Amino acid sequence: MLEIKNVKKSFGAVDVLHDISLSVEQGEVVAIIGPSGSGKSTLLRCATLLETMDEGELVYLGEHAVSTGADGKSRYVGNAELKKIQGYFGLVFQNFNLFPHYSVLKNLMDAPVHVQKRNKEEVKKEAMELLEKMGLSDKADCYPCQLSGGQQQRVAIARALALHPQILFFDEPTSALDPELTGEILKVIRQLASEHMTMVIVTHEMAFARDVADRVIFMDGGYIIEQGDPKEVIEHPKEERTKQFLARFA
Ligand code: ATP
Ligand code: MG
Repeated sequence: MLEIKNVKKSFGAVDVLHDISLSVEQGEVVAIIGPSGSGKSTLLRCATLLETMDEGELVYLGEHAVSTGADGKSRYVGNAELKKIQGYFGLVFQNFNLFPHYSVLKNLMDAPVHVQKRNKEEVKKEAMELLEKMGLSDKADCYPCQLSGGQQQRVAIARALALHPQILFFDEPTSALDPELTGEILKVIRQLASEHMTMVIVTHEMAFARDVADRVIFMDGGYIIEQGDPKEVIEHPKEERTKQFLARFA
């Protein structure tokens, strides 16, 4: 589904990602954990083309978005191909990032209608179904500012799903929320996992990562330090750095 190969990324003199490789299979749920500044968001931003990588490759469904040029540096494919590849994934951020001046329904419908050029009635029907699934049927005509943080985040997830992504990325989807609202978002992600949605989730919710992910990856200092079965990594970490990090959550 997704292959990230030997990615390196620096900001000025600071090396943020050192030779990161990671592949995600269809239907797999991968959780990425690690301390602040370890490069988790940068990795997600490189994987979703929001940030350019310096070296390394990115392949979605066998199609190269980024390959290695003759000089050893990353080379991006042309805009038309990038646009197509952008259609393969969805992204949900910490701060919801809804359009504040659009209603909930319009937030969901905008990109499918205007970017994907799909039939408006069909998109509307599907958007209403997604809102129902998220328990938000009665909020279709509300504006984001009229919703709780948890409701806004469920709209953001519905908006990502409205584009029919093959893979969904989450960057700390619950860290801007109160504990009771966190639960409702984790429940939605759990349900998507049970429906075999392919997902990569950066999270600080260790119990959630252990219970929902098929694989947990621990990053520190721009390296993947340890990865594997969630129960193994979280309850019986092998590496000293993983142990130190997890001790904070015990
Ligand atoms: P957190 O858990 O706090 O979200 P993170 O693991 O997501 O942390 P990143 O946001 O990927 O960490 O940042 C990794 C490093 O890269 C940090 O040292 C950060 O300061 C640096 N960095 C990230 N983005 C930029 C940027 N646009 N310009 C310069 N430095 C950056
Ligand atoms: Mg981050």
